[in-house]
Amino acid sequence: MSVQSDTSPALEQLKFLSPAEVRHVAETFGTPAFVYDEERIRAGVAQLQQLPSAYGHTIRYSLKASPSAAVIRIFDSMGVEFDASSVWEVIRAVRAGVAPEKILMTAQEADFGSTELPELIRQGLKFDAGSLQQLAEYGQAFPGTEVSVRINPGFGSGLVRRLTSGGPDSSFGIWHEQVAEVKALVERYSLTVVRLHVHIGSGHHADVLLPAARRLLEIAKDFADVHVVDLGGGYRLTVMADDPEYDHSEWAEELASDLRLFQEETGRELHMEMEPGTFLVANAGAIVAKVIDVVSTGDEGRRFVKINAGLTEILRPSYYGSPHPVVAVTRKGELPPEGPLTCVAGHCCIAGDMLTTRPGSVEELSPVRLGEVTPGDYLVIERSGGYCASMSMKNFNSYPEAPEVLRRTDGTFTLIRSRQTIDQLTANELIPDDLRKASA
Ligand SMILES: *Cc1c(COP(=O)(O)O)cnc(C)c1O
Repeated sequence: MSVQSDTSPALEQLKFLSPAEVRHVAETFGTPAFVYDEERIRAGVAQLQQLPSAYGHTIRYSLKASPSAAVIRIFDSMGVEFDASSVWEVIRAVRAGVAPEKILMTAQEADFGSTELPELIRQGLKFDAGSLQQLAEYGQAFPGTEVSVRINPGFGSGLVRRLTSGGPDSSFGIWHEQVAEVKALVERYSLTVVRLHVHIGSGHHADVLLPAARRLLEIAKDFADVHVVDLGGGYRLTVMADDPEYDHSEWAEELASDLRLFQEETGRELHMEMEPGTFLVANAGAIVAKVIDVVSTGDEGRRFVKINAGLTEILRPSYYGSPHPVVAVTRKGELPPEGPLTCVAGHCCIAGDMLTTRPGSVEELSPVRLGEVTPGDYLVIERSGGYCASMSMKNFNSYPEAPEVLRRTDGTFTLIRSRQTIDQLTANELIPDDLRKASA
């Protein structure tokens, strides 16, 4: 995480749009709008496909980062497989044309009493048991079949605590000391454990990922049919101008040598899987918003630029204190000269709608260096390709959901999800008859 002070944040730059394209997007699709870059998405996949591995590796794109159909199609067309966090994500991916056998579901909620989940498993969906209860329910429904098991390795790591999904404070996965219970269930239902899985957090440190992987290798010795170790997602990304670069080939190389050692000891060649969400889409997406107001709270106070986006499009700064580069573009589609240090406020009528929180601390403000803007100019919020459109405070203040636009590899822009209409927003509301009459 970058360390910023009020006096020396870096001036951020556009990651993939040109200033003229920002204006083009705003004038063509309106604001706010999400824009994704197909070329960057494809380049991220290619980068991970080239990672070193001992006996091959599979990339599963984590759908929850950005589950838009066109985005799913890009990954599917590249042979990428998928990680789903709910049955609904599975259904969305299948509707987008993904074969169920290409999806591994690792979910907090897995309802075997529903019609959807058992049917999808019969069609080939792979199931990763995230608890002993899930493993038992799966076993009852599908005795004698293959299954994956998610382990909580006893520790985790993430950008912030809320993004850490391993260790005693995390409810995810089967606690590493409960392997005997796993074995008993596996025996009772004649299951075959083929995959062991960990996901220790988002934005984890590689020096925590490796011990987690090693814990899986220890457990794999007890399960003779395990042939896949899945390391989950959470791979760090360079976001802010002053963030370091992360070299993912370093841990991959170390893991590969561990897997070779495992092979020497056991004769078994384990395939590696990884489930990146953030890494593949975050920097490949941006929000184009319009400046709607500029206010000041006096000489001792702050300068605020308000935009027509906010919690309804991007929750991360106020939920995690996560930094996002913000770049100003004039209404003419040019980069303006630098203005004063500025806080950026969203359009929701709630005090917490702030985009410039201090990294890791949602209660504090952290002004940023920004080009000079007046109402009618644009702000681009970078790193918005993951966990923004899919994880916003959608429809708060009744703002309709913003559209999603894709910049194709030939440089053209195409709409991949329309702006929500007010009719769609209210479509499911019902008014009891006696309340329909206007007051006298
Ligand atoms: C969320 C999640 C991921 C993706 O995490 P990123 O931080 O976006 O890479 C991968 N696997 C599982 C099981 C997850 O829950």
